[in-house]
Amino acid sequence: MSDKIFLTHSICYRAAMKLASQIHEKVPNRKVVSLYGVPRGGIPAAYLVAQAFAELGHSATLTDSFQEAEFIIDDIVDSGKTKARYATLAPSTPFLALSDFMLPKPPGSWLVFPWEVQQEGRDGSADDCIVRLLQFIGDDPNREGLRDTPKRVLKAWQEMTVGYRQDPKVILQRDFESRFYDQVIACPWVEFHSVCEHHLLPFFGYAHVGYLPSSKQAERRVVGLSKLARLVDCFARRLQIQEQMTVQIANALEEVLAPDGVAVVVQAKHLCMSCRGVQKHKASMVTSSMRGCFRNDGPARQEFFKMIELAKP
Ligand code: ZN
Repeated sequence: MSDKIFLTHSICYRAAMKLASQIHEKVPNRKVVSLYGVPRGGIPAAYLVAQAFAELGHSATLTDSFQEAEFIIDDIVDSGKTKARYATLAPSTPFLALSDFMLPKPPGSWLVFPWEVQQEGRDGSADDCIVRLLQFIGDDPNREGLRDTPKRVLKAWQEMTVGYRQDPKVILQRDFESRFYDQVIACPWVEFHSVCEHHLLPFFGYAHVGYLPSSKQAERRVVGLSKLARLVDCFARRLQIQEQMTVQIANALEEVLAPDGVAVVVQAKHLCMSCRGVQKHKASMVTSSMRGCFRNDGPARQEFFKMIELAKP
């Protein structure tokens, strides 16, 4: 998870002051300059710069069109894409960002400007991303049906990615008191929903998870079946690729339970294959990770697949 750094008004104003004096150095004899704020975060930033510029004894006007502007102002240059876009659209107009005049932000962190804070501890920048997406596809984010969509989308995404806030080790921590069981334990047909990290589209299906507890009784650890289902969810509810998720489930079981073998088979349908791209509606993908006694064809492996067949819903 990225760290949020909440900026104060005074930090932003100091940065706006530095930016204003840089503009003044560039056009020392100009009494009035025109600024364009990049929607949406650049607009409040441009206002702040205009205010700072006025304090230097000059004046700045804000314009709605970047073609008429002498300076283009944004809040932050993050991916550099916006800056690159304006460099093509208006190659001779300087592009300045408020954050360039602040201390460099630590990598992986996320700056939250004061005008992005709607409620305490909550920033509107994520809402803005959904609004921009709605605009990108050509719809009107202000129409009745879409007005609350950003909030709903973010809530759904929080739920779909709750796995980032769960620890597989904690899930598998509590094992049974009784350690007499030394047969294959399987939890087949665990339904799951995940999101592919390439397209942010869902993939969903079943995971079949099994293991053979350690043959050394003193080291044997056995967990309840519900724990296996929760383990699947913990990895599914993150941005994933199916192969990686399969391996992660197997790794966690191997690491925490130290069993004689682990078997994980995942079958799933990917919306990125059925509703776009190759549009193969029935295609499902199967991945597996077999460890220890399940690795080669033998009684444990056969029993595992028999259990899947038996439990078929
Ligand atoms: Zn995909």
